[in-house]
Amino acid sequence: MNDEHPPSTVVLDLERLLQGQQRFFASGKTLPLEFRRERLSRFAEEIEKRADDFLEALAADLGKPPIESYLSEVWYLLKESRYFAKKLPRWAKPKRVSTPFHNFPARSEIRREPFGNVVVVAPWNYPAQLSLSPLLAAVAAGNCVVVKPSELAPATANLLDEVVSAVFDPGHVAVVQGGPEVGQALLEQPFDYWFYTGSEKVGRLYAAAAAKNLAPVTLELGGKCPCVVDTDVPLDETVERIVIAKFFNAGQTCIAPDFVLVPESLRESFVEKAVASLKQFYGEGKSPDLARIVNASHYDRLLSLVEGKTIRVGEDDREENYLAPRILPEADWNDKAMQDEIFGPVLPVLAYGDLDEALSRVGGLPSPLALYAFSRNRDTLELVAASVRSGTVCFNDAIKQVTNLKLPFGGAGRSGMGRYRGRAGFEAFSYTRSFMKRYLWKDVFAIKPPYGSLLGKVRRFLK
Ligand code: NAD
Repeated sequence: MNDEHPPSTVVLDLERLLQGQQRFFASGKTLPLEFRRERLSRFAEEIEKRADDFLEALAADLGKPPIESYLSEVWYLLKESRYFAKKLPRWAKPKRVSTPFHNFPARSEIRREPFGNVVVVAPWNYPAQLSLSPLLAAVAAGNCVVVKPSELAPATANLLDEVVSAVFDPGHVAVVQGGPEVGQALLEQPFDYWFYTGSEKVGRLYAAAAAKNLAPVTLELGGKCPCVVDTDVPLDETVERIVIAKFFNAGQTCIAPDFVLVPESLRESFVEKAVASLKQFYGEGKSPDLARIVNASHYDRLLSLVEGKTIRVGEDDREENYLAPRILPEADWNDKAMQDEIFGPVLPVLAYGDLDEALSRVGGLPSPLALYAFSRNRDTLELVAASVRSGTVCFNDAIKQVTNLKLPFGGAGRSGMGRYRGRAGFEAFSYTRSFMKRYLWKDVFAIKPPYGSLLGKVRRFLK
């Protein structure tokens, strides 16, 4: 900073906050496992206590149906915080490894150590889960954390602030609220590790900020997640699973199937069944069971994608950002909806004649977070997985893979880098530190000058 551009109040506040957290970390308070486990358990209690407030805030921000909020945000976080508290001693236990004979006498071990002061930046679509799940991992690993939830889910952001302040010393964990201006101020701080979830465009800014500090970064980004359907599937079950996954949270899910590829022979019946499922799930008016679009600009963006032949189930309501679910029954690679991630309740159905050709097209797109394939044939499933690189895969269903905390979660290529969730989260927020302890006994294999003819002996011995 120079005199021409004095630091803004936001930057100064953040600087003070970070300095406080740096002192907290340096005090060593976050290091004992008992401290971390106690905080995690206390946090789970607070989330449980405020469960109804979460449902209310998520309804206010996104019109999320309470059961969707409960499953994907509240219960998810309860489950994960308890899992962390339980598993932490095992994950954090130093791992003894063998030591080569030439170091004798010695022992070697690998320890997991916290980075120190970390930042978590979150998007709006699962505003509680995507702020708090990384936070839990960061706390479990022994870090101090600054969390920035999305400004586009303000009721949840306020609640997160309250819940975090009720449990944590601000020197340990603090929420900072605000939009891109606060994000910009964060970019100027020297965090030890960066964890960002959101769009690719903004993710690049965080990657650059991390690079400036030579700090590691995890990027959880988006993309178009393909869903490939084979000819041999039971269609009722397949369509229902795809529709459930796609329209959960009104399609505003980073791992929702973005589009479906079906054999030409199945296109018509697939579309018919998908429309029937939508009618059955959401009725033909305005459903309380479909989340709202986060704001008017996303609503308009989505509407602009649905040109050409479109089947709409139900009525739109712009006042409420209620966008009725839509199927694009004859979608084409050149459609507007096929250019970028949709992130809303619109499902393009593309037909393919030859599976290999279709896969080579999909494999040429930027790597998505998730890949879905439906088939009874194991070889076909493996062929799809081998043809398209992605962060995660789910066969014969969609989005379920993230509900298993034992599966690391993250992207590949343009959909991001790094992994978290469960143990992978603990590992993301810590680094391996290698220790060797030699004993102060007389060395058996000391190699010391003058070397004389030692080289010959060494070469004979160290084959
Ligand atoms: P976004 O990039 O607009 O915002 C994410 C965060 O970055 C917010 O907290 C925002 O305030 C901040 N931000 C925005 N502009 C900034 C700037 N100029 N400088 C600094 N910070 C800034 O993303 P979004 O619209 O909230 O999220 C949607 C995207 O996130 C989609 O692409 C979706 O696929 C992706 N996503 C990915 C995951 C995942 O786990 N990989 C999960 C959810 C969403």
